[in-house]
Order: sequence, then C-alpha cells, then structure tokens
Amino acid sequence: MTANLLDFDLDGLAAFCERLGEKRFRAVQLFRWIHQKGVARFEDMTDLARSLREKLPGVCEVRSLPVLTQQASADGTIKWLFDVGDGNAVETVFIPEDDRGTLCVSSQAGCAVGCRFCSTGHQGFSRNLSTGEIVAQLWYAEHFLRKQFNTQERVISNVVMMGMGEPLQNYNALLPALRTMLDDHGYGLSRRRVTVSTSGVVPMMDRLSQDCPVALAVSLHAPNDALRDHLVPLNRKYPLAELMDACLRYLPHAPRDFITFEYCMLAGVNDQLEHAQQLIDLVRGHAGRGVPCKFNLIPFNPFPESGLTCSAKPVVKAFAERLSAAGIVTTVRKTRGDDIDAACGQLAGDVLDRTNAAARLAQRRTQVEHRVVWSSKESS
Ligand code: SAH
Ligand code: SF4
Repeated sequence: MTANLLDFDLDGLAAFCERLGEKRFRAVQLFRWIHQKGVARFEDMTDLARSLREKLPGVCEVRSLPVLTQQASADGTIKWLFDVGDGNAVETVFIPEDDRGTLCVSSQAGCAVGCRFCSTGHQGFSRNLSTGEIVAQLWYAEHFLRKQFNTQERVISNVVMMGMGEPLQNYNALLPALRTMLDDHGYGLSRRRVTVSTSGVVPMMDRLSQDCPVALAVSLHAPNDALRDHLVPLNRKYPLAELMDACLRYLPHAPRDFITFEYCMLAGVNDQLEHAQQLIDLVRGHAGRGVPCKFNLIPFNPFPESGLTCSAKPVVKAFAERLSAAGIVTTVRKTRGDDIDAACGQLAGDVLDRTNAAARLAQRRTQVEHRVVWSSKESS
C-alpha cells in the first residue's frame, strides 16, 4: 500500500519529501493543502511544482476513512462511524456550542483498560489506530463541516481525545497526530484546546508532559484504591497516590494550571457524600500541598451489560455542592446527542459481536441512505 500522508506530522512529511529529493518548503505547501484546505488530489494543489504533482501519485496518497454512517442529533451533535477494516469501526462526534466546536476523537478500536462503566471497555481491545486514522477523523469532519456551513473558516476549535480507546496506550501514533492538530500549518489549534483524556497511564503522562503538553483530563471515577481497582482496573498498576504524583509532575508543563478530573456518577457505587469527602481529602491532602484541579461530573450513560445506573439528579447536585463548598470548581457535564447514542461511553463502534460484524457493517452501509444525514441541507 502506498504511504498515507495523513500519517505524518510536518517533520515527518519533510523527511518523506526529502527522501523524494524535495525541499522542506514543499512539505509545508503539501501539508497546508491537505490540512488547511482539505484537498486530497495532488492535481488540485495548484502551486506545487508540476514535477512533484506528477511524482506523488505513484508513491503516496491522502487516505481518509470510509464513512459507514453519519447521524445528526436534534441538538446539532453529529456522529460518524468510520470503517477501519476487518469488521472494526470507530466513532467520532462533533459537538457544536455557541463559542466553540468540539470534536471527540477515537484513538483505538476497542480498549484494553476495561472500565466497568464503559461500553468501549466492555467490547475489548481490537487494535491501535494509526496516526493517519486518528488525523483522518479530524480531517474529514473539519472539511465536511466547512462545506456544510459554507465557510472557509475553521469550524472545529477544540479536540478532545475522549472517543473510543485509551490514547496513552497508543502513544506512538497519538504524538504525531497531536502535533498535526497544533501545527500552524496544520489545524493551528491551541494547546489549551486539545485535551488528552486518560484513565491514568502514569509513565505516558510523563512522556506527554515532555513531548507535547496539551490539556490533560484524568478519568478518576473513584476516591479510593479499593473502589478504583474495581471500576478502572488500570488502577491496580498505577494506584491513586502515583496518579496524583503524576498529575503534579504534569502541571508545570501543562497549558492550564489545573488538571480536569472526570468522574462518572454511578448510583450507589461512587456517588455518596462520603465519596465526595474522600475526593476532597485526596486532592487537597496529596503530598501535603494538594493537586490544583477542577471536577467534571459525568452523568453515567447506561448500557445493559454494565448492570449500573446513573445517580439521581439530586444526588449529583449534592455531590457537586459538597465539592464546590470545599472550593473545588465543579461542573456537571451536559449530555449531548442522546438521541443518537453519541454521549460519553456509548461509543461502541461495531465490534461488539465480531462474528457478525462484517455482515452488520454491510447492512449499515445500506441503511445509511435512510438515516437523517443532513439530507435536506445536502440536496439544497
Ligand atoms: N480512555 C480515556 C478516554 C476515552 S473515555 C479515558 O478513559 O479517559 C472518555 C470519558 O468518558 C472518560 O472520562 C470515561 O471515563 C467516560 N465514560 C466512559 N464510559 C462512560 C459512560 N458509560 N457514561 C459516562 N461516561 C463514561
Ligand atoms: Fe478505555 Fe476510557 Fe473506556 Fe476505560 S473509560 S475502558 S480507559 S475508553
């Protein structure tokens, strides 16, 4: 298979061009055509030297991901299901808000961490995505949305690595993808607006702080090791004290002066006021100085295999108030895209039952025409 140019950050593309005997500024031109203009055909890249335009098609291509389905929610959220081959699919979600457009991006097909409350975790691990497959989600969504909204301006202002998979367990592919997102010749996103969410892969948090310190969200979900061992099995490897230390080490490099802790509210499991108090003690008391942080409480999105339910609204409210009263900024996340199963932790791709996956993917392909796919807008 020929090289996929979406696999390269700018340095990688420069090295690739050098191997073809081309100068670095050619790589900059090429990178801008691909990422800023969304152009995939070399013959359309009008200011590239003709010799290069003719040379490229034989050796490389801009290979995006095939779209299996696209669903639009009543609240403007859009979810794409991308085919990554062998019966695997990953999901990407666009969430429009007044002052920003956020894309939730997947890093793996499935996930090996196996959190109890996560639909992706329940499906098990299939494989890592390549850099090109991570970037393709942004490339496709950004340029699709620009066409849709009939604008040349950037539509996606924020990226959160909160789709399927544990991004820090796919570090080598993640890093060039992040660099492409941040690059001024690429998507030009600010470090504060690119968030890596992790269940707590401690050594990779340290590497990220050195290589590409973007905003960090840590999925906490429990205030003590016994409970976290059960909910987030990775805790057995990197327990809370180590995780808190890693957060403290990350902060001096971070683009924000706090860590965002995510906390999924599970009825009767981790949502009692004593849990809130333990959390306060954990983040306040750690290393004698505390971890500067904000809390994001996520209402649990139930799915049948989990056997769990979401905390009642007043319970979430009381929990949030307890944290706030201790001076910790706490928000309760709004759920978006409920009607299209696009909320956190509902991203299950299509690999739940691998034996039938191929058949169901084929079926989805035929179903796609019948879905609400911006149909009226697209035809107008
Ligand atoms: N693997 C990374 C990023 C992907 S999950 C991580 O765990 O941080 C993104 C967020 O969705 C995490 O905070 C995760 O804990 C949360 N989440 C997973 N399943 C959920 C569910 N069913 N309901 C609500 N949030 C969920
Ligand atoms: Fe993996 Fe994150 Fe889901 Fe846990 S919550 S199983 S780490 S995707």
